[in-house]
Amino acid sequence: MSFNNLDTLYRQVIMDHYKSPRNKGTLDGSVLIAEMNNPSCGDRIEVYVHINDDEVIEDIKFDGEGCSISMASASMMTQAIKGQKVEDALKMSELFSQMMMGEDIDPGSLELGDIEALQGVSQFPARINCATLGWKTMERTVHENN
Ligand code: ZN
Repeated sequence: MSFNNLDTLYRQVIMDHYKSPRNKGTLDGSVLIAEMNNPSCGDRIEVYVHINDDEVIEDIKFDGEGCSISMASASMMTQAIKGQKVEDALKMSELFSQMMMGEDIDPGSLELGDIEALQGVSQFPARINCATLGWKTMERTVHENN
């Protein structure tokens, strides 16, 4: 894999999320759960979501195992959508997919933050599924259970 070709700064951000994942673990109580796998890489991600009466993602955690890109992206995903309305979280996920497909997105439409570090992954088609797995799992969690 050509991950080493990614910009050094971006690689540091990705490795930071991989080594110190945000919101990793499980949630108890009335939560929504879904799990997805990425067989080509061995990534496995579970997403736990607690949505309140105002359709706000009050809490979110992910668990699982996989490569640095899948884990870092899931960590960034939880960081980005915690506290967001469900519809806004789904919108962000769609924009993230478009970004991974190399499409131009309106720079103001997605609050990138650390997610910017993953932009270079779009150059490596074999890794795109790694980067989108956590987001797709979040989408499934919300859709299948809501
Ligand atoms: Zn992977």
